[in-house]
Amino acid sequence: MILEGKVALVTGSTSGIGLAIARTLAAEGARIMLNGFGDPAEIEKIRSELGALHDGADLSDPAQIENMVRRCTDELGAPDILVNNAGIQHVSPVESFPPEKWNAILAINLSAVFHTTRLSIPSMKAKQWGRIINTASAHSLVASPNKSAYVAAKHGVAGFTKSVALEAARDGVTANCISPGYVWTTLVENQIPDTMKARNLTREQVMNDVLLAAQPTKRFVTPEEVAALALFLCRDEAKSITGANLSMDGAGLPLRLRLM
Ligand code: NAD
Repeated sequence: MILEGKVALVTGSTSGIGLAIARTLAAEGARIMLNGFGDPAEIEKIRSELGALHDGADLSDPAQIENMVRRCTDELGAPDILVNNAGIQHVSPVESFPPEKWNAILAINLSAVFHTTRLSIPSMKAKQWGRIINTASAHSLVASPNKSAYVAAKHGVAGFTKSVALEAARDGVTANCISPGYVWTTLVENQIPDTMKARNLTREQVMNDVLLAAQPTKRFVTPEEVAALALFLCRDEAKSITGANLSMDGAGLPLRLRLM
């Protein structure tokens, strides 16, 4: 149990990648603050399975983020591990991209990462131990058509993470991004209809020529694989890994572009 005594705040942990990370950290003894939306009965099941707390803060609202971090500190302890994982997506050409979707994606996928970090880092520095793990994306390194807000936000997360890593380097606090390729979750499933429309493709073409084509391994990354890397970053042996943007994309698009 390598995380006994540690507190982990995992945003967007009611489904997909965040849920796998929360389960993996809990299995190693961390006390977990879950966050995210979903069916209340389902969330209660996850909460009791992990012996965790859940806070339903909407991360587009900085006041709700402040409440969540305060609640975590009061009821579990200040976060030793902060996993900024919540994210949303919208697929549309830039000329018809709804401004309110742009604002929501930037708020949840990028600004929330700033707010949770600024609120959590003082206690990490005071303890001279902390881990900040940001679920970025292969889109933090390369672009895809019709995902301008997501690509902008994820590039922002990658840059922000490097800055935080530099600032905290002498305080025992690491900050890294994990950048998966496509992982089969609700977020990916929900973007299929809009991708079909924006690129005039069938569902099968989106699956094979867009999603799986991005990964030479020709398979989706699993949430559990991402969680295993997050756990490794929490180990003391990972203390020199900081400021990194770790790709998990099956030799995907960024690598191929670098070779071209
Ligand atoms: P998901 O839809 O299964 O999970 C998203 C989580 O974020 C859910 O718990 C949801 O309730 C929560 N969330 C959404 N809006 C929120 C808000 N306003 N406030 C609080 N919580 C909110 O999707 P996922 O694929 O597991 O995505 C997790 C992260 O991984 C995201 O940051 C996403 O960009 C990133 N990512 C996903 C993939 C992929 O292919 N699925 C690839 C690379 C990166």
